[in-house]
Amino acid sequence: KISYYNGEFKNDDEVTVDYNDRAFYFGDGVYEVVRVYNNEFFTLEEHMDRLVRSASEIGIDNLDRSRMVEIVTQLNEKNNIDNGSIYIQVSRGIGKRNHAYPLDKSPVVLAYMNEISRPTAQMEDGISTITADDYRWLKCHVKSLNLLANVMEKERAVRAGAHETILHRDGVVTEGSSTNVFIVKDGVLRTHPADNMILNGITRLEVLKVAEARNIPYEEKAFTVDELMDADEIFITSTTQEVTPVTEVDKKTVANGSKGEVTHAIQEGFDEKIHKLNLV
Ligand code: PMP
Repeated sequence: KISYYNGEFKNDDEVTVDYNDRAFYFGDGVYEVVRVYNNEFFTLEEHMDRLVRSASEIGIDNLDRSRMVEIVTQLNEKNNIDNGSIYIQVSRGIGKRNHAYPLDKSPVVLAYMNEISRPTAQMEDGISTITADDYRWLKCHVKSLNLLANVMEKERAVRAGAHETILHRDGVVTEGSSTNVFIVKDGVLRTHPADNMILNGITRLEVLKVAEARNIPYEEKAFTVDELMDADEIFITSTTQEVTPVTEVDKKTVANGSKGEVTHAIQEGFDEKIHKLNLV
Protein backbone atom coordinates (compact mmCIF):
# COMPACT_ATOMS: atom_id res chain seq x y z
CA LYS A 1 0.00 0.00 0.00
CA ILE A 2 1.04 3.57 -0.67
CA SER A 3 0.80 6.15 2.09
CA TYR A 4 1.65 9.84 2.38
CA TYR A 5 3.64 11.71 5.01
CA ASN A 6 5.14 15.19 5.01
CA GLY A 7 5.28 15.73 1.26
CA GLU A 8 6.05 12.21 0.07
CA PHE A 9 4.14 9.19 -1.17
CA LYS A 10 5.89 6.02 -0.05
CA ASN A 11 5.33 2.34 0.45
CA ASP A 12 3.63 1.79 3.77
CA ASP A 13 6.60 0.02 5.33
CA GLU A 14 8.96 2.85 4.37
CA VAL A 15 7.03 5.65 6.04
CA THR A 16 8.69 7.03 9.16
CA VAL A 17 7.19 9.80 11.22
CA ASP A 18 9.16 12.67 12.72
CA TYR A 19 9.05 12.34 16.51
CA ASN A 20 8.83 16.11 16.82
CA ASP A 21 5.54 16.12 14.91
CA ARG A 22 3.14 17.96 17.23
CA ALA A 23 0.44 15.41 16.43
CA PHE A 24 2.54 12.96 18.44
CA TYR A 25 3.16 15.12 21.52
CA PHE A 26 -0.06 17.07 21.80
CA GLY A 27 -2.58 15.60 19.39
CA ASP A 28 -2.14 19.08 17.94
CA GLY A 29 -4.03 18.70 14.69
CA VAL A 30 -7.22 17.67 12.95
CA TYR A 31 -8.30 14.80 10.71
CA GLU A 32 -10.93 13.32 8.39
CA VAL A 33 -12.02 9.86 7.30
CA VAL A 34 -13.44 9.71 3.79
CA ARG A 35 -15.26 6.72 2.34
CA VAL A 36 -14.55 5.30 -1.11
CA TYR A 37 -17.25 3.10 -2.69
CA ASN A 38 -16.48 1.35 -5.98
CA ASN A 39 -13.40 3.49 -6.44
CA GLU A 40 -15.29 6.76 -6.04
CA PHE A 41 -15.32 9.21 -3.16
CA PHE A 42 -18.53 9.64 -1.18
CA THR A 43 -19.22 13.23 0.05
CA LEU A 44 -15.61 14.29 -0.53
CA GLU A 45 -16.46 18.01 -0.73
CA GLU A 46 -18.16 17.93 2.66
CA HIS A 47 -15.20 16.17 4.28
CA MET A 48 -12.68 18.56 2.76
CA ASP A 49 -14.75 21.58 3.84
CA ARG A 50 -14.91 20.22 7.39
CA LEU A 51 -11.14 19.57 7.41
CA VAL A 52 -10.43 23.18 6.48
CA ARG A 53 -12.98 24.38 9.05
CA SER A 54 -11.56 22.19 11.85
CA ALA A 55 -8.04 23.39 10.99
CA SER A 56 -9.10 27.01 11.09
CA GLU A 57 -10.87 26.47 14.45
CA ILE A 58 -7.54 25.47 16.02
CA GLY A 59 -5.57 28.25 14.35
CA ILE A 60 -4.18 26.35 11.37
CA ASP A 61 -5.26 29.06 8.96
CA ASN A 62 -5.56 28.90 5.21
CA LEU A 63 -5.04 25.17 4.90
CA ASP A 64 -4.58 24.51 1.19
CA ARG A 65 -7.84 22.69 0.44
CA SER A 66 -6.95 21.88 -3.17
CA ARG A 67 -3.71 20.28 -1.97
CA MET A 68 -5.71 18.12 0.47
CA VAL A 69 -8.05 17.05 -2.33
CA GLU A 70 -5.03 16.25 -4.48
CA ILE A 71 -3.41 14.10 -1.76
CA VAL A 72 -6.52 11.98 -1.20
CA THR A 73 -7.21 11.75 -4.93
CA GLN A 74 -3.67 10.57 -5.65
CA LEU A 75 -3.80 8.15 -2.74
CA ASN A 76 -6.99 6.67 -4.15
CA GLU A 77 -5.39 6.34 -7.59
CA LYS A 78 -2.11 4.86 -6.34
CA ASN A 79 -3.80 2.17 -4.22
CA ASN A 80 -5.68 -0.58 -5.93
CA ILE A 81 -8.58 -0.57 -3.47
CA ASP A 82 -12.16 -0.33 -4.73
CA ASN A 83 -13.88 -0.12 -1.38
CA GLY A 84 -12.13 1.57 1.46
CA SER A 85 -11.53 4.58 3.61
CA ILE A 86 -8.91 7.28 3.48
CA TYR A 87 -7.58 8.75 6.71
CA ILE A 88 -6.03 12.19 6.43
CA GLN A 89 -4.58 14.16 9.34
CA VAL A 90 -3.09 17.62 9.46
CA SER A 91 -0.79 18.47 12.34
CA ARG A 92 0.29 21.99 13.23
CA GLY A 93 3.85 21.12 12.31
CA ILE A 94 7.20 19.84 13.48
CA GLY A 95 9.17 21.48 16.30
CA LYS A 96 10.89 20.69 19.60
CA ARG A 97 8.35 19.95 22.31
CA ASN A 98 6.97 23.27 23.52
CA HIS A 99 3.34 24.10 24.20
CA ALA A 100 3.63 27.40 22.34
CA TYR A 101 3.20 27.09 18.58
CA PRO A 102 6.44 26.77 16.61
CA LEU A 103 7.40 29.98 14.79
CA ASP A 104 7.60 28.26 11.44
CA LYS A 105 4.17 26.72 11.20
CA SER A 106 3.98 24.42 8.19
CA PRO A 107 1.22 21.89 8.60
CA VAL A 108 2.30 18.28 8.20
CA VAL A 109 -0.07 15.92 6.43
CA LEU A 110 -0.32 12.16 6.96
CA ALA A 111 -2.69 10.09 4.83
CA TYR A 112 -3.28 6.45 4.06
CA MET A 113 -5.95 4.19 2.61
CA ASN A 114 -7.52 1.07 4.11
CA GLU A 115 -9.66 -1.58 2.51
CA ILE A 116 -12.99 -1.85 4.33
CA SER A 117 -16.42 -3.20 3.54
CA ARG A 118 -19.88 -2.11 4.53
CA PRO A 119 -20.96 -3.31 8.01
CA THR A 120 -23.88 -5.28 6.58
CA ALA A 121 -24.44 -7.64 9.52
CA GLN A 122 -24.64 -4.89 12.13
CA MET A 123 -26.79 -2.76 9.81
CA GLU A 124 -29.34 -5.59 9.85
CA ASP A 125 -29.02 -6.99 13.38
CA GLY A 126 -28.13 -3.84 15.27
CA ILE A 127 -25.61 -3.33 18.05
CA SER A 128 -25.58 -3.04 21.80
CA THR A 129 -24.43 0.14 23.52
CA ILE A 130 -23.75 1.53 26.96
CA THR A 131 -24.16 5.08 28.26
CA ALA A 132 -21.49 7.16 29.97
CA ASP A 133 -20.75 10.64 31.17
CA ASP A 134 -19.47 12.99 28.44
CA TYR A 135 -16.55 14.75 30.11
CA ARG A 136 -14.89 15.94 26.87
CA TRP A 137 -13.89 19.54 26.22
CA LEU A 138 -16.30 22.13 24.85
CA LYS A 139 -15.08 22.16 21.23
CA CYS A 140 -16.46 18.80 20.16
CA HIS A 141 -17.42 20.32 16.79
CA VAL A 142 -13.70 20.31 15.92
CA LYS A 143 -12.50 17.01 14.48
CA SER A 144 -9.39 17.09 16.64
CA LEU A 145 -6.68 14.43 16.84
CA ASN A 146 -7.11 14.59 20.60
CA LEU A 147 -9.36 11.59 21.14
CA LEU A 148 -8.31 10.48 24.61
CA ALA A 149 -11.78 10.71 26.16
CA ASN A 150 -13.29 9.08 23.06
CA VAL A 151 -10.93 6.09 23.15
CA MET A 152 -11.35 5.66 26.92
CA GLU A 153 -15.13 5.67 26.57
CA LYS A 154 -15.04 3.30 23.57
CA GLU A 155 -12.92 0.93 25.61
CA ARG A 156 -15.56 0.99 28.33
CA ALA A 157 -18.06 -0.33 25.74
CA VAL A 158 -15.67 -3.02 24.54
CA ARG A 159 -15.12 -4.20 28.11
CA ALA A 160 -18.89 -4.37 28.63
CA GLY A 161 -19.21 -6.53 25.49
CA ALA A 162 -20.94 -3.64 23.70
CA HIS A 163 -20.18 -1.86 20.46
CA GLU A 164 -20.47 1.84 21.21
CA THR A 165 -20.74 4.24 24.14
CA ILE A 166 -23.51 6.83 24.02
CA LEU A 167 -22.35 9.96 25.84
CA HIS A 168 -24.45 12.39 27.86
CA ARG A 169 -23.83 15.68 29.65
CA ASP A 170 -25.93 15.94 32.80
CA GLY A 171 -28.38 13.44 31.36
CA VAL A 172 -28.60 15.06 27.90
CA VAL A 173 -27.40 12.75 25.11
CA THR A 174 -24.71 14.34 22.93
CA GLU A 175 -23.25 11.68 20.61
CA GLY A 176 -21.42 8.37 20.55
CA SER A 177 -17.67 7.98 21.12
CA SER A 178 -17.21 7.98 17.33
CA THR A 179 -20.76 8.32 16.00
CA ASN A 180 -23.83 10.55 16.06
CA VAL A 181 -26.97 9.28 17.78
CA PHE A 182 -30.58 9.45 16.54
CA ILE A 183 -33.81 8.37 18.18
CA VAL A 184 -37.30 7.89 16.76
CA LYS A 185 -40.33 8.58 18.93
CA ASP A 186 -43.90 8.49 17.59
CA GLY A 187 -42.57 8.69 14.03
CA VAL A 188 -40.37 11.74 14.65
CA LEU A 189 -36.62 11.49 14.13
CA ARG A 190 -34.51 13.40 16.61
CA THR A 191 -30.81 14.18 17.03
CA HIS A 192 -28.66 16.67 18.95
CA PRO A 193 -28.31 20.06 17.23
CA ALA A 194 -24.99 20.79 15.50
CA ASP A 195 -23.36 22.96 18.14
CA ASN A 196 -20.06 22.77 20.03
CA MET A 197 -21.19 19.68 21.97
CA ILE A 198 -21.02 17.29 18.99
CA LEU A 199 -19.15 16.65 15.78
CA ASN A 200 -21.52 17.52 12.97
CA GLY A 201 -21.19 14.20 11.19
CA ILE A 202 -21.31 14.13 7.41
CA THR A 203 -23.41 10.96 7.71
CA ARG A 204 -25.67 12.82 10.18
CA LEU A 205 -26.23 15.51 7.54
CA GLU A 206 -26.90 12.93 4.83
CA VAL A 207 -29.45 11.24 7.10
CA LEU A 208 -31.25 14.54 7.64
CA LYS A 209 -31.34 15.04 3.85
CA VAL A 210 -32.86 11.58 3.45
CA ALA A 211 -35.45 12.39 6.14
CA GLU A 212 -36.31 15.63 4.32
CA ALA A 213 -36.64 13.90 0.95
CA ARG A 214 -38.74 11.08 2.37
CA ASN A 215 -40.99 13.35 4.39
CA ILE A 216 -39.89 11.82 7.66
CA PRO A 217 -40.42 14.50 10.31
CA TYR A 218 -37.24 15.36 12.19
CA GLU A 219 -35.99 17.68 14.91
CA GLU A 220 -32.47 18.80 15.69
CA LYS A 221 -33.25 18.92 19.37
CA ALA A 222 -31.37 17.29 22.22
CA PHE A 223 -32.97 14.42 24.15
CA THR A 224 -32.29 12.96 27.58
CA VAL A 225 -31.06 9.51 28.56
CA ASP A 226 -34.62 8.81 29.79
CA GLU A 227 -35.97 9.65 26.33
CA LEU A 228 -33.27 7.47 24.79
CA MET A 229 -34.36 4.53 26.96
CA ASP A 230 -37.98 5.18 26.00
CA ALA A 231 -37.36 5.53 22.25
CA ASP A 232 -39.17 3.47 19.61
CA GLU A 233 -35.97 3.24 17.57
CA ILE A 234 -32.34 4.26 18.00
CA PHE A 235 -29.54 4.34 15.46
CA ILE A 236 -26.00 5.64 15.24
CA THR A 237 -24.26 7.07 12.19
CA SER A 238 -20.72 7.53 10.92
CA THR A 239 -18.71 7.36 7.72
CA THR A 240 -17.67 3.76 8.34
CA GLN A 241 -20.65 2.52 10.40
CA GLU A 242 -23.20 4.19 8.09
CA VAL A 243 -26.69 3.85 9.60
CA THR A 244 -26.55 1.19 12.32
CA PRO A 245 -29.55 0.31 14.51
CA VAL A 246 -29.05 0.20 18.26
CA THR A 247 -30.95 -2.71 19.77
CA GLU A 248 -29.62 -2.54 23.32
CA VAL A 249 -28.72 0.26 25.74
CA ASP A 250 -27.17 -0.57 29.12
CA LYS A 251 -28.36 -4.19 28.73
CA LYS A 252 -31.96 -3.11 28.13
CA THR A 253 -33.62 -4.03 24.85
CA VAL A 254 -34.76 -1.12 22.67
CA ALA A 255 -38.48 -1.48 21.80
CA ASN A 256 -38.91 -4.99 20.31
CA GLY A 257 -35.17 -5.50 19.85
CA SER A 258 -35.00 -5.38 16.07
CA LYS A 259 -34.36 -2.72 13.42
CA GLY A 260 -37.24 -0.24 13.23
CA GLU A 261 -39.23 1.00 10.24
CA VAL A 262 -37.88 4.53 10.18
CA THR A 263 -34.32 3.26 10.55
CA HIS A 264 -34.96 0.96 7.60
CA ALA A 265 -36.31 3.81 5.46
CA ILE A 266 -33.28 5.97 6.32
CA GLN A 267 -30.94 3.10 5.43
CA GLU A 268 -32.71 2.68 2.10
CA GLY A 269 -32.35 6.37 1.29
CA PHE A 270 -28.70 6.36 2.33
CA ASP A 271 -28.09 3.32 0.14
CA GLU A 272 -29.55 5.15 -2.82
CA LYS A 273 -27.12 8.00 -2.19
CA ILE A 274 -24.21 5.58 -2.13
CA HIS A 275 -25.39 4.08 -5.40
CA LYS A 276 -26.13 7.57 -6.71
CA LEU A 277 -29.67 6.68 -7.51
CA ASN A 278 -30.99 9.96 -6.14
CA LEU A 279 -34.35 8.29 -5.82
CA VAL A 280 -34.95 9.22 -2.17
N1 PMP B 1 -18.98 12.02 16.32
C1 PMP B 1 -17.71 11.69 16.60
C2 PMP B 1 -17.16 12.01 17.95
C3 PMP B 1 -16.92 11.05 15.63
O1 PMP B 1 -15.64 10.72 15.90
C4 PMP B 1 -17.49 10.74 14.36
C5 PMP B 1 -16.72 10.03 13.30
N2 PMP B 1 -15.41 10.40 13.19
C6 PMP B 1 -18.82 11.10 14.12
C7 PMP B 1 -19.53 11.74 15.13
C8 PMP B 1 -19.48 10.81 12.79
O2 PMP B 1 -19.00 11.66 11.78
P1 PMP B 1 -19.04 11.27 10.25
O3 PMP B 1 -20.44 10.90 9.92
O4 PMP B 1 -18.61 12.51 9.55
O5 PMP B 1 -18.10 10.13 10.07
